[in-house]
Amino acid sequence: MKRSIKAQLSLTITLIVLVTVLLISVLANVFINQRFEEYITKKQEQKTQEIVSNLSQQYNAQQEEWDVNFIHTIGMNVLYDGYIIKVYGEDSEAIWDAKKHDISLCTQVMADISQRMEEKYPRMNGTFTSKDFDLTQAGTKIGTVSISYYGPYFLSENDFQFLNALNVILITVGIFAFLFSLIIGWLMAKHFSRPITKTVAITQQIAKGNYNIRFDEHTKIKELEDLVISVNYLAECLNKQEGLRKQLTADVAHELRTPLTTISTHLEAMIEGVWTPTEERLQSCHEEINRISKLVKDLEGLARVESDNLKLNKVQIDIMDIIYTICSNLEIELKNKNLTLEIDGTTTYIKADKDRINQVILNLLSNAIKYTPDNGHIKIAVSKTKNTAIVMIKDNGIGIDQEELPFIFERFYRADKSRNRKTGGAGIGLAIVQSIINAHGGEILVESKLDQGSCFTMILPKGG
Ligand code: ADP
Repeated sequence: MKRSIKAQLSLTITLIVLVTVLLISVLANVFINQRFEEYITKKQEQKTQEIVSNLSQQYNAQQEEWDVNFIHTIGMNVLYDGYIIKVYGEDSEAIWDAKKHDISLCTQVMADISQRMEEKYPRMNGTFTSKDFDLTQAGTKIGTVSISYYGPYFLSENDFQFLNALNVILITVGIFAFLFSLIIGWLMAKHFSRPITKTVAITQQIAKGNYNIRFDEHTKIKELEDLVISVNYLAECLNKQEGLRKQLTADVAHELRTPLTTISTHLEAMIEGVWTPTEERLQSCHEEINRISKLVKDLEGLARVESDNLKLNKVQIDIMDIIYTICSNLEIELKNKNLTLEIDGTTTYIKADKDRINQVILNLLSNAIKYTPDNGHIKIAVSKTKNTAIVMIKDNGIGIDQEELPFIFERFYRADKSRNRKTGGAGIGLAIVQSIINAHGGEILVESKLDQGSCFTMILPKGG
């Protein structure tokens, strides 16, 4: 059977406290009892010494006389404490005997003590035994005293009260500790289990597609706080992904709709005989189909880059080499617009995926050509630092509005000026560029001024 974290924690804490309290009580009882026995035994020895010394002082050596009155007072006093004494003179003649004096009181004292001790210490098997002690004065024996008490030791009424009070304290502390542990355990368990239970509920909501849900409480426990942060982050990421997915579907549909509508209406008009299928009209349909093909190709390229991000085939490449090859391939486009091209830089080796870097430079250079009017100028400059290679592609073309700059790397984003179908592509080229550069651990920066030109700078780590 599965137990909840709350039940498990409460139970464990209560059990630990219970065992600890029990252990402390038992050990305290054993140790205190042991100490107490030692203390009582010592106290009894002292008491007998005291009796002997007090009695010894009651003899007047000059008059050779005992102060029987005082001995009587001593005898009666100690009788109430549980000591029954019998005093003998030098010639063993009885001077004072407690039993003779008050046998009924002696019997009652003995019975009381025996009963109390047998009740509390049944295994002690104690009895009243007598011990003889010499009474001396200045080293001379003057008599004997026989002291009889319950042995090996006995506890007075006060001693029992003290032990009982101690037991009551221990039991009370135990009960309080137990209750306290129950409350603390329950509170702690609640503190632990609440974020976990809530996280479970939230992940279930996330699984159902409710990505907007967030955990808005905080806990002081680091691991639980991390868990909460992770779950919130997961929800946020899924939400973003979901948004991107919807956006992508909408964008693709939007991009396809215009050329498809054009083709469809043109063909319809030709089929219905409204339009004669001239070469020019067929050419226009062909261009639209080409646009769709390019879009599909671009999308494929983006999908590949985004899914292959981690599978880069890194080799040692010379960036200048790649730039020269691309430029010679684009010679016709440059010539068509009468653009001048300046290339600056020396051999720069980096470790990177050749095809991908080729694609990045091709996209950036194609854009520079696309968005620079006839007779414009494009400059490519390659430089290096200790750990990086820097490629700058600068044109004096149409430029980009400052407000639009932050979005140009997003998929399907096209700055307003280029919304012209003739020049503008689908707005995927820079998204591919950014994906590739990010995968290489580099970064791409852009500076641009409307009608003055743009400058794209990519920084790539040399080591790949
Ligand atoms: P596109 O296929 O439309 O060129 P890109 O992702 O390559 O898509 O570029 C996104 C947008 O950024 C372009 O539509 C254009 O508005 C702007 N852009 C990119 N490069 C330049 C440039 N060199 N000069 C001016 N605008 C540019």
